[in-house]
Amino acid sequence: MARHGDPHVARLRSIQIVAALPHPEGECIAWPRLGSTGYGRAVYKGKSYQAHRLVWEQQVGSIPVGLELDHLCCNRACVNTAHLEPVTGTENKRRRWARWWARQEEA
Ligand SMILES: [Zn+2]
Repeated sequence: MARHGDPHVARLRSIQIVAALPHPEGECIAWPRLGSTGYGRAVYKGKSYQAHRLVWEQQVGSIPVGLELDHLCCNRACVNTAHLEPVTGTENKRRRWARWWARQEEA
């Protein structure tokens, strides 16, 4: 048995985790200028920001310290605040893994 358990079970669990996540309404709003990581980049008052964080702070409010904005639509270029959810770094990592596993084709 591998250290991380049966990949088949891990994938099935991941599909369940991904299916339980909120489904965003509406279309993605793609930011026109992307950085090397695929996230939108925006320059505001001479400083460079991740566009989705900047848009969130302008439209919704400040992001609590330590929280990250998860793209529920999995589109890093998207700045539609309805597609974003503030989550802890741990939760964001858990979702990233679950999405990765869920995408794996069965062997
Ligand atoms: Zn989106």
